[in-house]
Amino acid sequence: MMDKFARVTACPICESPRLRPFKKGTFDYARLRWDQVKITDSEYGKIWDLSECEDCGHVFADPSPAPEFILSLYGQVEDPVYDEEAEGRSRNFLGILKNLEKLSPAKGSLFDVGAATGILLSLARERGWSPAGVEASAWSVKRAADNYGLHLIQGAFEEVRLEPAAYQALTMVDFIEHTPAPRRAVMKAAEVLAPGGILCLVTPDIHSFAARAAGKRWWHLRPGHLAYFSGRSLTRLLQGAGLAIVKKRRYAWTFSAHYLLSRKKTFDVLTRPGRSASFLKRIPIKLALGDSFEIYAKKSASS
Ligand SMILES: [Zn+2]
Repeated sequence: MMDKFARVTACPICESPRLRPFKKGTFDYARLRWDQVKITDSEYGKIWDLSECEDCGHVFADPSPAPEFILSLYGQVEDPVYDEEAEGRSRNFLGILKNLEKLSPAKGSLFDVGAATGILLSLARERGWSPAGVEASAWSVKRAADNYGLHLIQGAFEEVRLEPAAYQALTMVDFIEHTPAPRRAVMKAAEVLAPGGILCLVTPDIHSFAARAAGKRWWHLRPGHLAYFSGRSLTRLLQGAGLAIVKKRRYAWTFSAHYLLSRKKTFDVLTRPGRSASFLKRIPIKLALGDSFEIYAKKSASS
């Protein structure tokens, strides 16, 4: 069991040895369970022992878990609550697709990394993209097939075999903070993108105002998050893979009122008792917290 975790001696992104403790862990991560890493887990505030790179500001789990340990958990995830929020999530994804359509020279095949139950890919297909994707959870892969007739590859993006230079667009929405191998993942993204293709990456910003204001109650502090990127570490990650940043935004989340109320420890401010759940599920609420990066990076057209 000793090799389930390893102490980190250099920054996983920029390789600097100048690391310092960032925050003390708040749960027993050696006993991490699959239900704690699902997308809709509400165990906010539970974090790994975290270190920070003094050079690029990257924050990461230290000791870091063995990739097999993490992947075995994601393989088991079942998350029906995620599917119930398909409408709100579609609104989130629509903005991404519109940006990709502006930045991409052509609407060809779009590959979604961590495709969950296929909500983004289904929407992309409606808009004329040819959808493909990978998802670790067997349950989610089956839901994507049942709900949308999508055939996702089941497994870890870093491990699966994909054709090089085959995709015009690649999306990683809330993926990179979950993977034990972020550099390998982005290198692979660059490899499978077609020349001139665009990667869209969305991930929480731990140095954002909202994160600092919320402190321990920040909703992105979760057991499933193995790393928290800084603007500098993200830039470094993308440039290191030969991708050029072409657009940066702050991601605005849309949830139903019901979803927010069911997590009201974190969203006290929105609490209004007395409405039925089905009514609340139809009310979209956009949260422009500005606490996630939404970055578009392009693969050189000549490579
Ligand atoms: Zn670093």
